[in-house]
Amino acid sequence: MNPSAHLAAVLVGTDPLYAGGVDWAVVLIDLIKVLVVFGALMVSVMLMIWFERKVISDMQARIGPNRAGPFGLLQSMADGIKLFFKEDLLPERADRLRAVNQVLAQDRFKPLVRGETPEGNLDLVTLCHNEDYVGELRHIAPTSGMIYIDGDTSMSPGTWEAVMRGVGGAVAATDAVMSGKHNNAFVAVRPPGHHAETSTPMGFCFFDNVAIAARHAQQKHGIARAAVVDFDVHHGNGTQEIFWADKSVMYCSTHQMPLFPGTGARGERGEHDNIVNAPLASEDGGAKFRAAFESVILPQLTKFSPELILISAGFDAHYRDPLASLNLKAEDFDWVTRKLMELADRTAGGRIVSVLEGGYDLQGLRESVAAHVGALMGAESRPNTSV
Ligand SMILES: [Zn+2]
Repeated sequence: MNPSAHLAAVLVGTDPLYAGGVDWAVVLIDLIKVLVVFGALMVSVMLMIWFERKVISDMQARIGPNRAGPFGLLQSMADGIKLFFKEDLLPERADRLRAVNQVLAQDRFKPLVRGETPEGNLDLVTLCHNEDYVGELRHIAPTSGMIYIDGDTSMSPGTWEAVMRGVGGAVAATDAVMSGKHNNAFVAVRPPGHHAETSTPMGFCFFDNVAIAARHAQQKHGIARAAVVDFDVHHGNGTQEIFWADKSVMYCSTHQMPLFPGTGARGERGEHDNIVNAPLASEDGGAKFRAAFESVILPQLTKFSPELILISAGFDAHYRDPLASLNLKAEDFDWVTRKLMELADRTAGGRIVSVLEGGYDLQGLRESVAAHVGALMGAESRPNTSV
């Protein structure tokens, strides 16, 4: 036998593809293997994209775009996982109100008249929110454990009462100011409210406390024009949505853009030019914040001539806050409060009701609340930020 022919025969014998025909069963199995591996890869990639978009992007919006590092997805996933599993990193927490109480316990705030927020009722809530939505939220409020409505918004057994006290507090303060019992009032409640739309909870918010207080002032006290001024670092999409077509309420907002919730562009003006958005950019700081008020918001408010000014008082534009980077200082909150008081003196008999929204760095919150409430009390001196 020719040796080379013998070798060829051995080679033929080792691989069925060369064995004078194709073994289709083997080809099919190989093809299935390739498809399974490819499918698994595709599913993994899709899961990563979903995780990035639905879970991490929400958390990124909360912690601010400046936290997205050079590693893109991996970096943001690491941030998200850290936030997801470390409850002490969740920004909207009970310690916020403890911090507010702590600073307002100082001697210089002794003259304040204090009261406990009463619970609101469903008639008040439905001044701004859809009845079905309110009913559904009440139905799902848990008696134990937690339920998660979205990446930010969850309910524990205490949430319903806290939310109803937010509504009741804003309304009680409005009654006290409208009746002339007090010139102005600051309502320290949580969770905040300005992201809650007519039928949608979001961004820690369930019911829009200031919006409800505005409608209540109109209904019970005959106010023709109420203004909501929102200097929280996030845009109050809920308040804007509620009053979009309501010419009796002007909503004005400074906020960082781009940032959660994504609304609040200058061109969003409402059906009656009753929405005034003055978006600011990351790192803009106090000078640009004040300029936005001087050149955009205060002139519009003066023209509107509100009979009551409600403030969505969020302090997350403070430079220490972990959720944004607008870099305001306590002095800026003192300044804007005084400007709004001057305007309220001219058009609203001095009537201001201020309701706490955001503010997630406890030291920043203490400094800012001290400046804001100090101004509302008519304190002459500049704020003492050593709190
Ligand atoms: Zn905020």
